[in-house]
Amino acid sequence: MSLVKIVIVGGVAGGASVAARARRLDETAEIIVFERGGYVSFANCGLPYHIGGVISDRSRLLLQTPESLRESLNIDVRVASEVVALDATARTVTVRELDSGREYTETYDALALCQGADPLQLPLPGADLPGIHVLRNIHDMDEIKASLEAALDAADSLGRPTRAVVIGAGYIGVEMAENLRHRGAEVAVVELADQILPPLDKDVSLPVEQHIRGRGVDLHLGTAAAAFASTPAGGLRVELNNGTTLDADLVVLSAGVRPNVSLARDAGLEIGPRGGIVVDTHMRTSDAAIWAAGDAVETPHTVLPGSWLTPLAGPANREARVAAENICGRDTEYLSTQGTSIVKAFEMVAGGTGATERQLTQFGVDYRAVHLHPSGHAGYYPGTAAMHMKVLFAPVTGIILGAQIAGFDGVDKRLDVLATCIRLGASVHDLESLELAYAPPFGSAKDPVNMAGFVATNVLKGDLVLWYAQDFPQALEGARIVDVRTPEEYAIWHIPGAENVPLDTLRTQCTTWDTSRPVRLYCAVGFRSYLAYRILVQRGFEDVATLSGGSTTFRFWHDLEPVGFESKPAEIHYAEAIDLVTAARGTGEVVELDCTGLACPGPIMKLAQKMDELAPGDDIVVHVSDPGFAHDAPAWAGSKGHELLAIEPEGPGYVATIRKGGAQTGTFRAAAKLDQVSFVVFSGDMDKVLAAFIIANGALAMGQKVSMFFTFWGLNALRRDDPPKRERKTLDRMFGIMMPSRPEKLPLSQMNMLGMGPAMIKHVMRQHSVQTVPELMQAAQDSGARLIGCTMTMDLLGIAESDLIDGVELGGVATFLGEAEKSGTTLFI
Ligand SMILES: Cc1cc2nc3c(=O)[nH]c(=O)nc-3n(C[C@H](O)[C@H](O)[C@H](O)COP(=O)(O)OP(=O)(O)OC[C@H]3O[C@@H](n4cnc5c(N)ncnc54)[C@H](O)[C@@H]3O)c2cc1C
Repeated sequence: MSLVKIVIVGGVAGGASVAARARRLDETAEIIVFERGGYVSFANCGLPYHIGGVISDRSRLLLQTPESLRESLNIDVRVASEVVALDATARTVTVRELDSGREYTETYDALALCQGADPLQLPLPGADLPGIHVLRNIHDMDEIKASLEAALDAADSLGRPTRAVVIGAGYIGVEMAENLRHRGAEVAVVELADQILPPLDKDVSLPVEQHIRGRGVDLHLGTAAAAFASTPAGGLRVELNNGTTLDADLVVLSAGVRPNVSLARDAGLEIGPRGGIVVDTHMRTSDAAIWAAGDAVETPHTVLPGSWLTPLAGPANREARVAAENICGRDTEYLSTQGTSIVKAFEMVAGGTGATERQLTQFGVDYRAVHLHPSGHAGYYPGTAAMHMKVLFAPVTGIILGAQIAGFDGVDKRLDVLATCIRLGASVHDLESLELAYAPPFGSAKDPVNMAGFVATNVLKGDLVLWYAQDFPQALEGARIVDVRTPEEYAIWHIPGAENVPLDTLRTQCTTWDTSRPVRLYCAVGFRSYLAYRILVQRGFEDVATLSGGSTTFRFWHDLEPVGFESKPAEIHYAEAIDLVTAARGTGEVVELDCTGLACPGPIMKLAQKMDELAPGDDIVVHVSDPGFAHDAPAWAGSKGHELLAIEPEGPGYVATIRKGGAQTGTFRAAAKLDQVSFVVFSGDMDKVLAAFIIANGALAMGQKVSMFFTFWGLNALRRDDPPKRERKTLDRMFGIMMPSRPEKLPLSQMNMLGMGPAMIKHVMRQHSVQTVPELMQAAQDSGARLIGCTMTMDLLGIAESDLIDGVELGGVATFLGEAEKSGTTLFI
């Protein structure tokens, strides 16, 4: 074996790996590592956790020292030594000793550039003020920790909280936010994107966003820092470009990294389109004697076209190993990077692998997406919660293109299984047949990964057509939106405009529906709506789709207001619910109820059951892992006359204390501030219908909700001018001819005079600029009024759904009574 001299620039993840692997392969080589910092082979990934006090022993982050590397591997490590120039022709590097300023040159036979990336420094006014930090190495960590501890002491003596601002909500920003909170600081995070964790798709980042807001992090999304200034009191002020100002004792910039390529560029090495060093599959640069690895190189993406920068520790280490093998004469290849990554955000975990939906769209790659919410392990075994899982795959072959998960327990396991599948080119069919480790504390007999396979292959086989939360409301125009959950779930929350047809009743209710009208189904997570889908398509419905991920995914997109828990949360967010209660003062028992592992509506149903067993004044302390509970609990408690005393984060979810109300539901409702007006429009007289719509529009203008139930002759107001042709029974045809066929043809209740009355009144209305019935109807619909056609009358009078104007929901007396129950005013016209 020839004696070679291997010189490595950079001595942390990539550099230390090249050195160690090269030594194992070549005992005779001279190996020199130059590191400009004071430490080598330290755990960058652990830095935030030492600041947060989670890793209390600083020395645990120092995996190796120059001495240990010399002793164990005979490697010459020179710290505080910066390589300032590279002469690729002469095969020399120029090194500056940072302590003495001395410069010298060193020759090499093989050179490995492992210089990593530098944190982006924002070119903003005041960005160099003391107290503004970046986090890349041990030195940065020590500075941030010292700055934080000084701020904690100072704030403590002033009797106020310490305030920290983190710029950037990527993985490091989120880790810093958690660790600063852990030390007791108030934390604001500023992020230019409209979501946290930009490497993930928004639908997967949203549950994490909700979770970290719930842990007291003040998020400013879709905005950026514009300037920094110092305050007279010695603090910092961060100005955002949306006009907000944030006071801070310290600021951490984690706005991304830039590959460190200046040596390579100056030496004439090829630089790629993304600004990284170009390497081949042997990690060799455009110069035959120079290799490179880590954050500074571009490598092919496993799924997407082109080469990419992927600043992650795993790829850095594996690339370095390949570089060392090739330096030592082996023929080893590094084929691609898929960007598998994971982050802890308080109790939550999120990560992804392969391409995101955003990237697939950007590159014009055709894909399908499925969303699931399985629990991390069997629901009946304590300590689990729903995970939010998204799998992207190719439409024909089913090859997996990407996967992302946010959740609590078992996220890492599923992510790694999916990452392995992507690496091996597996398809969603393979997911169906994977045999994974299972016992109740670890998973389910049908693992979430298997479940993803089942749903995705259903899509591929055409057994299931999906619609997506992002499609709402545009793509649902004209469709019948059907919520197949229970009435209890529907009452707590539903998609605006959706009608409730519980799955059990679907077969009977759908018989009157127009099979040509598109139906968009949903339930809580997608299973019941899948069953509903199967029922409808087999009954001839032409255009049916079910909501991917169900209302759980939908609510993250459209509905869930962040729940903060800074100061008395229940009073801030649930004031209205608490206003409504007339509960007895706590005289009774306190009962603990464990609803962890149950998905919506499980917790509410179990809570309702338990409440029935208690006496007024008794309290239930309920533990829930379902994130939607923070929103559902106040609504449910308010509607039942119970008192939500407190709700706080606990583990993956919440712990809430609810006191059973003493008043009868009816009494309670009478006292409640109900903001809905309901109408029974019984009359088919134009003047009465006109009056109904004038009042309805008035109520809408005053911010009230409006629900109008059209029954008997009133139903004629909803008939359309040009109904599609259809088979009718003779009696139906006769009714159809005898009754007014549209609102313009409605008669007057008085002075109809064989139709002259309505013509006269319309003339007078025009003169006084009074809107017509159709115009008022349209205005009411545009403002969100629910127009409900009575199904019983329709049957009776032979009116089909296709005879009615667009946007009319169908319902029976139970629908009306449900609406009336929610109303402060109910009018019979
Ligand atoms: C706070 C933090 C948390 C992270 N967490 C994770 C995580 O959880 N998971 C994950 O996968 N990745 C994580 N990363 C990213 C991961 O640390 C990097 O991807 C990895 O360290 C890259 O390895 P590298 O060798 O390319 O660069 P580095 O490990 O940064 O090493 C480059 C070294 O080169 C030195 N250098 C540069 N120029 C010269 C020169 N001219 N002369 C001499 N020396 C030079 C630098 O001083 C530096 O020490 C984290 C990074 C940070 C900062």
